[in-house]
Amino acid sequence: MEVTAVQGDITRQQVDAVVNAANHRMRGGGGVDGAIHRAGGRAILDDCIRRFPDGLATGDAGWTTAGDLPAAWVIHVVGPNRHAGQTDRGLLLSCYSRALEVADELGARIVAFPLVSAGVYGWPKDDAIAAPLEVFRSAMTAVEEARLVAFDAPTYELIREALG
Ligand code: ADP
Repeated sequence: MEVTAVQGDITRQQVDAVVNAANHRMRGGGGVDGAIHRAGGRAILDDCIRRFPDGLATGDAGWTTAGDLPAAWVIHVVGPNRHAGQTDRGLLLSCYSRALEVADELGARIVAFPLVSAGVYGWPKDDAIAAPLEVFRSAMTAVEEARLVAFDAPTYELIREALG
């Protein structure tokens, strides 16, 4: 699998699936979550309600339609919220490995990922970058490109450095 980095808005990515940094209720929120629901339209929320009546556990992943986004699917993951005392790194790794499993179920070949937990959930940026790279480098998956999308230039540079 090729690991790439781009700077930009994840909702604009021409990919098969976009990963959403959701919360466990899966009814929308701020950050990436808000941007994806706004750009994708009501269909995403309707699908979340229908397919995940009880929400999603931290560290898990599940898919919905991508509505009006260029992607075919949104793969929602729930990252650990450090501000709520969720400091288990395994939960962050699990978001990425579960997202790849769901991508494989869907047959998605190009998948765009945000830095899960790196925003309001307060995970340190360097480890929020190291964790997905660790998972991607050892993953057994049919996904051909895992694209890390950085919203801002400094974060993009950090990802580029980590990619080496
Ligand atoms: P979490 O609640 O898991 O911490 P956030 O959505 O608050 O998730 O932030 C995760 C990361 O995504 C942060 O680095 C933030 O800057 C970035 N981000 C926010 N909006 C977008 C967007 N539209 N596209 C790509 N990245 C984004």
